[in-house]
Amino acid sequence: MRRATKIRLYPTADQQNLIARQMGCVRFVWNKALDLKKTAWNERRESLSIADISALLPVWKSGEYPWLKEADSQALQMTLRHLDRAYTNFFAHRAHFPQFKKKHAGRQSYAYPQRVKVAGNTVFLPKIGWVKAVVHREIAGTIKTVTVSRSATGKYYAAILTEDGQALPEPIRHITHVTGIDLGLKDAVTTDNGTKIPNPKFLRRALKNLRRKQQSLSRKVEAAKKRCLAAGRPLADLRQFFGSNIARARQDLARAHERVRNARTDWQHQVSRRLADETQAVCAETLNGKGMMKNRRLARAIADVGWSGLVTKLEAKLKAQGGYLIRVDRFFPSTQLCSRCGEKNTTLTLKDRTWTCAACGTCHDRDVNAAINIRHQGILQLKAAGLSVSAHGGGVNPSLIGMVAA
Ligand SMILES: [Zn+2]
Repeated sequence: MRRATKIRLYPTADQQNLIARQMGCVRFVWNKALDLKKTAWNERRESLSIADISALLPVWKSGEYPWLKEADSQALQMTLRHLDRAYTNFFAHRAHFPQFKKKHAGRQSYAYPQRVKVAGNTVFLPKIGWVKAVVHREIAGTIKTVTVSRSATGKYYAAILTEDGQALPEPIRHITHVTGIDLGLKDAVTTDNGTKIPNPKFLRRALKNLRRKQQSLSRKVEAAKKRCLAAGRPLADLRQFFGSNIARARQDLARAHERVRNARTDWQHQVSRRLADETQAVCAETLNGKGMMKNRRLARAIADVGWSGLVTKLEAKLKAQGGYLIRVDRFFPSTQLCSRCGEKNTTLTLKDRTWTCAACGTCHDRDVNAAINIRHQGILQLKAAGLSVSAHGGGVNPSLIGMVAA
């Protein structure tokens, strides 16, 4: 089983310099390779392979770019492999076209494919040496890759991917606990048994703070633009007109972003842990992120809750215990169907938090009813996959399950 552990690094000033140089070399090779690939394609309709470019590395080192010798050669190879993957993802419509890496981008990183060692609270990084770290969890198994990064706020991390040689636990064949969840804005998660996990308020508050900091930075950049133009210089030279106040405002904003990100990740881990501990399979609606993002106010709130991050973490935790995450098609009308009798209530609006079924008279909590329906649908999918499900609960008449699906 593979496992990723992210630990904080505390490099000395000298080591920080060495890390910055590694990042610089890796960034240079990425940009150079991307440029070569683009030019080869645009001018000659030729597609350069990573092997072709790899073969150039020794030429560069002994010729035009001798300083590349300072870099860990495997880290350079690794960045070429990453570029290759970026192209593959682009052609598979999974990602945008690979971009040139900027020196002034907030986060910088590079990866080692091997030769990293961990001992106590120190980590050995090739070309850097032993770096002080806080290893909060035992690094067990073989170290596969290590990604060293520096955040926009100047913190250093190592993300260590290990393989413990053990297979994933056998998937559970006979499922006795299934949970349906409805993802919402007021309550981030509602389960079919009525548990509601509210959307954390701290994110909303933090967002206000972020917006203010962003505006303050924009104002300063605008002022620098005016100074630049007034001096008769092109905007390409804008950076030279940045004062220390911009650097400070940037750091400030980056720090605020980091706090929000960390708080959200923590929350997602807690919620997904809690759900995974209680059940063997979770059924959730697939989220049409793109479609929903068209509604800007809703988009803000969704980005807030971080549904996709939550579902991804939940899936990993369930899999690690042999469980399942079932994605239910979003076109399935989970909200409108009465989970008791299958009647469809087409008059339901977004505002209705509760409603009474016209056919059977059951009073429904909108989200709980949706979660029950999603659970029914998920159970059908589990059964269709050939698994045995003997989960109880939800007050479901088995003869209705077919109706809900229809
Ligand atoms: Zn009904």
